[in-house]
Amino acid sequence: MRTKKTGQKKTVFYIGDIISVAGVLLLSFLVWSLFFLSGKGDGETVVVIEGGSKTVSEYDLGHDGVYQITSSNGHILTLEINDGNVSVTSSTCDNGYCVGMGKINGTGETIVCAPAKIKIKIVSDGEVGQNDFIVG
Ligand SMILES: [Zn+2]
Repeated sequence: MRTKKTGQKKTVFYIGDIISVAGVLLLSFLVWSLFFLSGKGDGETVVVIEGGSKTVSEYDLGHDGVYQITSSNGHILTLEINDGNVSVTSSTCDNGYCVGMGKINGTGETIVCAPAKIKIKIVSDGEVGQNDFIVG
């Protein structure tokens, strides 16, 4: 009785379904990318520890703490994060230059310990994201 009409409507609904499914996919993608971008872009600052050319560990600059870093050649550095300031408070390295560098607190600033081959740098997550975007 209504078969023909339903048949016609089915075609309409089918197209509608594709549009709504595509819409849901697009929406979820937008939400995901917004979430992803906002997560990258909120300017969270991290302290990155590099040994040689590799990243050994990362610490949140916003969380105070004292961490022990053991270098690949056996030196032990004590890293302190206090109120947004990063410093090496003690080190077993020969020259103690890293301890003498005092505190750093700005993005892009580094403390280098040559004998231990350790590099401590402050990096903004937001900047990392932007750089990736330009490069990509
Ligand atoms: Zn040192």
